Amino acid sequence: MLYAARILGRPLGGRVTGVDFAQRLMARMAAEGGRLFRMGAKPCVAERAAANLAERYPGLTVCGARDGYFTDDGPVVEAIRAAEADVVFVCLGSPKQELWMAKNGPASGAHLMVGLGGALD
Ligand code: UDP
Repeated sequence: MLYAARILGRPLGGRVTGVDFAQRLMARMAAEGGRLFRMGAKPCVAERAAANLAERYPGLTVCGARDGYFTDDGPVVEAIRAAEADVVFVCLGSPKQELWMAKNGPASGAHLMVGLGGALD
């Protein structure tokens, strides 16, 4: 990320963790709009994260969510597409999430997928 930002002529000035990035992005989406789909973590964690995020980012549109323990990708991809998600947080741990995004990203119709590991926890 640091090298990519430098190549693009907008250096970041330091390490940016997934959690920091996600928090800044959610604050901005809450203020400016955009539809967020959350995917990953254990069912109980995903539920608590949903409640906490709703409290912390009141204007944020969460258009859907799935825990990270499914066996069939198809229904999840379809749910993301049907929800017309702009941004998807993919929290399956590395490298599972990167492989999942490479395989399923294009079919989901989302504009941005971000692999965030254990960020929901
Ligand atoms: N996880 C998941 N589905 C899986 C495997 C892992 O949803 O099949 C979740 C797990 O519950 C945890 C996250 O992925 O929330 C992985 O967190 P970890 O801290 O291990 O990932 P890292 O940030 O180190 O990549």
